[in-house]
Amino acid sequence: MTDSFFTRAQKELQQAAVKSKVSPKLIEKLLTHDNDIQFDVEFTKDNGEKQIVKGFRLQHDNILGPYKGGLRFHQDVSQDEVKALSLLMTLKNAVIDVPFGGGKGGIKVDPKTLSEKELEAMTREFARKLSPYIGPEKDVPAPDVNTNGKIMAWIVDEHSKTVGKPTPAVVTGKPIEIGGSEGRTEATGFGGTYALLAILKHLGKKPQNFTVAVQGFGNVGQYAAKSLQDAGFKVVAISDSKGGVYIPSGLPNIDDIAKCKAEKGHVAGCYCVGSVCDISNREKVGGRDIPAEEILTLPVDIIVPAALENVLNEDNAPKVKAKIVLEMANGPTNQEGDEILNKKNVLVIPDILANSGGVATSYFEWYQNMHDEKWTKEEVLKKLKEKMEKATNEVYEISKQENVTLRQAALISALRRIETAWKQK
Ligand code: NAD
Repeated sequence: MTDSFFTRAQKELQQAAVKSKVSPKLIEKLLTHDNDIQFDVEFTKDNGEKQIVKGFRLQHDNILGPYKGGLRFHQDVSQDEVKALSLLMTLKNAVIDVPFGGGKGGIKVDPKTLSEKELEAMTREFARKLSPYIGPEKDVPAPDVNTNGKIMAWIVDEHSKTVGKPTPAVVTGKPIEIGGSEGRTEATGFGGTYALLAILKHLGKKPQNFTVAVQGFGNVGQYAAKSLQDAGFKVVAISDSKGGVYIPSGLPNIDDIAKCKAEKGHVAGCYCVGSVCDISNREKVGGRDIPAEEILTLPVDIIVPAALENVLNEDNAPKVKAKIVLEMANGPTNQEGDEILNKKNVLVIPDILANSGGVATSYFEWYQNMHDEKWTKEEVLKKLKEKMEKATNEVYEISKQENVTLRQAALISALRRIETAWKQK
């Protein structure tokens, strides 16, 4: 039988525990959760009927600081999923060295079946029930799958009413007008590029020598593609759920493709010459259309899965031609896929390091709220770059010292940091 997501996460932790030499008592603690909060969320539909959905908040561990992690609204949300994701948040927050523990939560619901009014009513009731468990120094949620700044703003509003004072720092990922941070939108994608550049520096390689294919053109994929191109990598392919474009000589400006996607709703057919992006330019630019699943097996140097989990697996990992995988999505490589890539000597920059720029900037947002500060986008991105480089260098050094993969090194780095804080408590 295939392991559940949580069992897989526990196994990864146990494997890293052996190499990290941290106390078995700490590992025992990290294999369980501090608090498993579940409740019914009842709201009224537009037709007057009642709907009841299941709400979750899993608080995994708070040795490093308040629990921190996103809230997702999805029909597949389950206790197992949020348990696994909250454990991974504890580790991710430790790798990037922010003073947060790990949490995750959400509602088991398909938000696409709800009107705006229903979504708001559901979110506000969820926030009221969640209120006793969260707070700037207790647990700080954020957006995740199908949640966004608007939903965070409703949660701030409900929580502030409950505690009787404005409390913007109770969540991150807020709109800028109510205390969100400059640079948060770009942070995850840009952070991945900073991590990749730091690794290439160790290897003595220059970005100009690498071709890249990016899967996913949402928040993460778009800004990863843009920052990779700006850093000198030759981005040759991008895709979203409807397919993609491949131009072996290099894509034009990613900003033009982003505008094209905003107009057409997909990147397929976005062959841009100047500001004119159209399928009729395909031959002129020497491009070809690619089905969504082909992007990860193209003849490129680096692939960047930035969409979904488990997309690199036993079926396609043997066909991967790239030498580097920059994991921008959460959990894009399953265990079998990971073993195959390792045997092929593919360098995998793991998700808990590569996409941690998002939570690093969430920490910057929380910090600005707590200290009543407002940083410019330049300040935020400078601090982000420093944080990503420091964490990446630490992980790289551990991988060399212990002769382990970057994934194991990232886990070891996280466990050692948590142990240091645990011993001081
Ligand atoms: P998003 O919803 O903005 O974008 C997802 C993109 O994936 C869309 O372009 C969609 O079309 C594309 N996609 C869906 N199915 C696809 C397929 N079969 N092939 C190719 N593309 C496909 O989401 P996002 O915020 O960009 O998140 C992407 C991943 O990064 C998720 O795994 C998320 O958990 C992870 N992540 C996001 C952040 C963040 O700050 N947004 C932080 C850390 C990790």
